[in-house]
Parts: sequence; structure tokens; C-alpha cells
Amino acid sequence: MQKLKLEKIKKTYNSGEVVTALKGISLGFRENELVSILGPSGCGKTTLLNIIGGLDRYDSGDLVINGLSTKEFKNSDWDAYRNRSIGFVFQSYNLIGHQTVLQNVEIAMTLSGVSTSERKQRAKQALTEVGLAEHLNKKPNQLSGGQMQRVAIARALVNDPDIILADEPTGALDSHTSIQVMDILKEVAKTRLVIMVTHNGELAEEYSDRIIRFLDGEVQSDSNPIAEAETEKASQQTAKEQKFKKTSMSLITATALSFKNLLTKRGRTLITAFAGSIGIIGVALVLALSNGLSTYMNSMQSDTLSSFPITIGTGEQIIDLTERGPGGLEGNNDAAGYTEYPKDNVMYSYDSEKNSTKHSNIITEDYLNYIGKLETELPNAVNNISYRHGVNINLLAKGQGTAVKFETTSAPSGMGMMMGNNSTYLQELPENNDFVLSQYDLIGEGGRMPAGKNEVVLVVDKYNRIDKAFFEKLGITEDTENYKLTDFIGKTILKVIPNDDYYTRNGDLFTAAAPTDYEKLYDSDTGTKLTITGILRSKEDVSSSYLSPGIAYTTALTADVVEDAQKSEIATVQKDSDKDVMLGTPLDNKAKDNALIMLGADTTPTGINIYPKVYDSKDKVKEYLDQYNDDKSDDNKLIYSDMAEMISSITGTLLDTVTYVLTGFAAISLLVSTIMIGIITYVSVIERTKEIGILRSVGARKKDISRLFNAETLIIGFTAGMIGVGLSYLLEIPINTIISNLAGISGVANLNPLHAAVLVAGSMILTLIAGFIPSRMAAKKDPVVALRSE
Ligand code: ADP
Ligand code: MG
Repeated sequence: MQKLKLEKIKKTYNSGEVVTALKGISLGFRENELVSILGPSGCGKTTLLNIIGGLDRYDSGDLVINGLSTKEFKNSDWDAYRNRSIGFVFQSYNLIGHQTVLQNVEIAMTLSGVSTSERKQRAKQALTEVGLAEHLNKKPNQLSGGQMQRVAIARALVNDPDIILADEPTGALDSHTSIQVMDILKEVAKTRLVIMVTHNGELAEEYSDRIIRFLDGEVQSDSNPIAEAETEKASQQTAKEQKFKKTSMSLITATALSFKNLLTKRGRTLITAFAGSIGIIGVALVLALSNGLSTYMNSMQSDTLSSFPITIGTGEQIIDLTERGPGGLEGNNDAAGYTEYPKDNVMYSYDSEKNSTKHSNIITEDYLNYIGKLETELPNAVNNISYRHGVNINLLAKGQGTAVKFETTSAPSGMGMMMGNNSTYLQELPENNDFVLSQYDLIGEGGRMPAGKNEVVLVVDKYNRIDKAFFEKLGITEDTENYKLTDFIGKTILKVIPNDDYYTRNGDLFTAAAPTDYEKLYDSDTGTKLTITGILRSKEDVSSSYLSPGIAYTTALTADVVEDAQKSEIATVQKDSDKDVMLGTPLDNKAKDNALIMLGADTTPTGINIYPKVYDSKDKVKEYLDQYNDDKSDDNKLIYSDMAEMISSITGTLLDTVTYVLTGFAAISLLVSTIMIGIITYVSVIERTKEIGILRSVGARKKDISRLFNAETLIIGFTAGMIGVGLSYLLEIPINTIISNLAGISGVANLNPLHAAVLVAGSMILTLIAGFIPSRMAAKKDPVVALRSE
């Protein structure tokens, strides 16, 4: 029976000089025989084996396997043929150094898709057959030459091939171990075709069934050539059945194999991954910072900036009209004709008065209605709208001992004016409790928000402080620096006195209650006693200045006081009088208006504060306010001011600039580390050339090789990504500590988990790209050349 038939096989190498290694070889081989090929060095023996084994291609002629011509073989057919039918044994063993004996034997089966457990079991069995059962987990360099060659034989046998090709298997062994190896090959040849190249004529004579002598690429003699009759029979029998099952390494197998590879080179893998992670860390930290900063900015905009309201005040203001007039105010806009930031050699003289105008806001009933509709027109745009009233609250306090007047008017000059109502320690609470509680915590046991006109809260600063002047106003005179929160919560120590009780009429004049009357008024049945239900302190991280330390009362109380004051005798009398009803002095119009407001006779608000939710809704609110002015004459327009605008536009630009710069740096470091990974993969391809040759000799396709390397770079990319993200999360801790020490903002660096996942994926993609060219190079390597490399 004929297994292989070579028909006039020719092979010429052309690297510089032309060498004809095989000059038309015609030979046949039986299904089981041990054939020795003898001949001097360079006569073409290895070339012949490589061509028979499908590692190298013949130039002309034909190689017939089981009666099937290989002329039309595709690469995949050759790969499958090598994997299924051929077992190679080399003089230099060609074991993969970083894998164990067992893994070296398993590798051929990995390619043919044998399950893990079967692979292990068969590899163990093959190693037992060659007497190496004891050495499964050793590395090749821990074995003797004979043992290594037996590992190679076990690897050649494990896929149960029909043909074993051995290229000087005993060439590197002493005579004793050579005999061991030959005994094994002899045994193997009982059921297979074994073709062995050797220099050792004695061993060949002793063990071979047949000896073929080679000289200068030609057969010189053949001790047992095949007769024609045998040929006919064989080709008839097997020509049709012949088809090799294709090898295929699944992606999972490739990944598992790569993973094992990487594990054996842990140190280098970690260093590579670390190099790759540097870029990822850069990007991650930039993302973390800009994410944290923009979150911070947003919360600042909603917390702090919304505590800077859009204000509509009353009174006269001077407005610069060079830019667009606020609120659609027109006036003598002289800006036309000027260009911004002129580049010319020019300087202008202009009349600034023509560019500004005086304007008085007059809050009308109509405007109040318009503002009242704001919350229905623009739902979710405003947190709160509050109205300032000029009405005086007659407030008595009895913090200790006897009742005192809680002075509610601030001094007309000095600190009081500059700090608004700060020095009065008295303010109205926004109607919306949710809004208040989004920025303030209730501290102290048993505290709650006030529920009606007769309940108030105290507000303290972030150190739980209130100025000592406040305690004096409450009538607490003892010289203590600290109190208990619970000394105040639930206490009723304030009372609002109606105008009619507070002022007594004497003919045409009214007099305010004297300090000696306070106790009696405080104990009387009329008026509204105020209970402190809780204490508010601004939340940590919320730098809100919405409320200032002191007392905050409900809008219900305001409504009550306004209603009472409006009906009061002093208010009605003042309305009809040109004189100050308390002093008897004449009043001009303006002073009278003020007096009426103070006494509650005029209930028009003296100011409106609109607290938008976020920056965007602030713009909508402004648009809404502008609309009111559209069809009004200049005098009837109402203009607003927006303090927060300037602050947020500065910080926004700053954030953008910082992010761009940081992203630039991060992109560069990402690029550098990608290139590094590319280089490291490239080096590893060069280093592992031999391994690539070995894999190809056991049937790995080009695709498998590139898969293997791609899987490795993917794993490295994944590791790099995980290290990068992990280190970034760790680095956030010191960075945040530094930022919080420097700027007092905590938790700025804050990597979004979604960004982290994208970064890991990105790292894998980048390393895959970086390793793509080297892995293609690896796949393209000529297996014969690869095997020769050291
Ligand atoms: P042997 O195994 O009998 O010592 P080889 O088959 O290795 O001989 O080589 C036969 C001839 O072909 C030699 O002259 C060798 O230099 C040449 N040769 C073998 N492989 C190559 C190659 N890849 N490129 C160029 N020449 C080669
Ligand atoms: Mg050789």
C-alpha cells in the first residue's frame, strides 16, 4: 500500500545565488515503514522533509497523499494536512521554552479543537508512552536532550498522525539516548509511516526498514523501492475518501492560550500593561476632573448662583447703553458705528452721558400679575420668587428677664446699608420648603420647618454662629459664648405686636410704645407669638448665602402683618396727611411714600427676587422679563440685574480652557503609550519567531497566529485599561485631598463609571490597533525560516 508519492518534485531557492535543493525527486512511501534518508550535509534532505510535511512548497512536480494530488491545495488544506496527518520531530527539539512539557504536547490538539479535558488526558498518555510521566510540569530547559526529544516525539504523536517526519532526531544526542529515541520511533513505525533523516549510518542500518541515499538533490539509491503494482492499488482505494478536516482555533482557545502565555511572562506583561495604562490614567484623570468640575459648576450654578437672584428693584439707576440696553431699554444708543477691539491706530473721544440713561423702576400691579404668571408660564424654571416689603414688623423678644424691642430697621448708613438686611437678623423664608431643604440642613434635636405664621426658624452660619448683636436683640444679655441648640428649639420668645396696639394716638400724633410698655404688650392677648421650630445651617458643600444668620419667618406671617398694618389706624391717618404722623413734621412726596410703605399702608413690594433653578432657566426667565418690556415706553419698562451672570461666565470659560489643555496632554500620553505597546508587541513577535514556526509546523493557520497575537494585545489592553482606571480611582484620593486643601472644594476628581468602562474598551481597541501590524507580520512569517531562527 502506498501512502505518499512524490512525482518529479523540484525545489529551487533563490536568495542571492540560485540553489537547486531538489532536482526532480520521484519516490513512494508505504503506509507503515521506517525509512531512513542518508546523505551529506546540504544535499536537500531537510528540504524534502519540509515539502513532504507541507511546511515548504515544491516548485514543480506533484506530491500525492493517499492518492490525492496536492497541486490544487490551498493554504488551509496544507494547514489541516500538517495538523492531522503529520508529526514533526526536529534535531533541535523546537519546544516552546516558556510552556510546560504538558502544554507543549497539548498545543497541536489545541489547534484541532479537542476539548480541554481530553487534551490533557491524551497529552499525559503520549508523554507516558515516551516515559516522561514524571516530568509533566517541568519547563523544557529542566530536561536532558533525550528527554526533550521524547517530548517532541510525544507532541508529534499526540494527534495520531499517519506520518512522522524526523529531521536528524538523534543528531544532538549521545549514543545511549539515541538508542532510546530510535526504539520509540521503531515502535511508532509499526502503525505509521516514519521518514527519518539521519547522519548516523549505523543506526539507520540497524533500525530502518528501508534506506534512501541522497546526493546533491537527487536520490542515489533506494534499498526497498515501491513496485508499480502497489501504486495502482492504493490510488484506487483512497483517492475519493481523502479530505482533511480543517484545523481551527476558536477565539476562546486563542484567548486562553494567550492568557497562559502572558501568565508565564507575568513581569513583562505587567510592565507592558503599565506602560499602556499611563495614557489611560491621563485621559481618566482629565475626564474625572472635568466631570467633577462640571458637576461642581452645575451644583454651584443651581446652589450658589441661584442664591444670586435676578433682582428687580425700585429706585433710580444709571444704565450704560453702549452695549444692548437691558430690558430692551433704548435711549440714545450711540454705540452704533463703533467696532469692538479695533486694530487700527485709533482712539475715540465720546460723550458718556449720551450713552447712559437714568431709569426708575416702578413696580405696578400689572407687573406683579405678570411675575405671578411666571411659574405657570415657565414650569421648573424658578426655585422661588420672593417679594421684599418695606413694612415694619413690630417685634418684641423675651429671651431672658424682661421683654425688649427686636429692632427691625437697620441703621441707614454704614454696615447696615452695605450688607442689605444682614444686620436686621430678620428675613422672610422662601415659600418652598423643598428648595430651602435642598440647601440647608435642620440641625439640633426635634427641629422642623415652620408651618404657619406663628412659627419661625433660626439660621446659623457653618460654624453654628450668630453675631452677639442678635442675642442682644433677643434680650439675652448674659455674657456666654455658647448655647445649646435645644435651648432654642421649641421656645416661644418672640411676639409680633399689631400697629394698633403698638402705636397710641394722642390727638393728631401717634407715639410708639415705650420700653416700659414692652412687658405688658408681650403678655397681652393680642399679637402673634412666634415659636422657634428649628435651626437651619447651610449644607456641607453648598456655599449658599440665601439666608443670613438670624430669624427667618414664613410668608404667612408677612401676609398677616401686611394685612394688619394696612387696616391699622396709623396707616389710614398717614395716608390722608401731609405730615409725619409721629413727628408732626411736613413730608415731601417721596418721604411720604416711604412712611406709607413702612407703616404697611402701601403694600406694593419694594423689590422682587427671582431665584432660577439652573443657569439655562435663568436665560428663559430673563427672556420672559424682556417680553414684558417689548411694548412699553422707556419710562414704563422694568429692568433687572443679574449678579450671577458674570461669575458663571468667567468660571465656564476657565473650565473649558483647562479641559482643552488637559485633554491635549492626555491625548499625547495616550498616543505615546499606544506606540509603546506597538513596539513591545513588535519586539515580542521578533522574540517569538521560533514559537510561531513551531505553531505553524503543528498546523496553525496564519489566522491562528494573528489571532494569538491579537488576543494577547487585547488582554494587555484590557489589563492596561483596568490598571489605568484602577490607578486613576486611587489617584483621585490624593488629588481630591490636595484640591480640597487648596480650594476647599471636595470630591472634584470623580471618574464616571461609564467613562471608566469606555476607557477600558478604548484601551483594548488602541492596543489592538498598535499590535495589528506586528501580529500580521507574525502571521506572514515563513514557517521554515521561522523554525531556523534562534
Ligand atoms: P540538508 O538538510 O540535506 O543538509 P537542506 O535541505 O537544508 O540540506 O538544504 C539543501 C540546499 O538548499 C542547501 O544548499 C541549502 O543551503 C539550501 N537551502 C535550504 N533552505 C534554504 C532557504 N530557505 N533559502 C536558501 N537556500 C536554502
Ligand atoms: Mg538538514
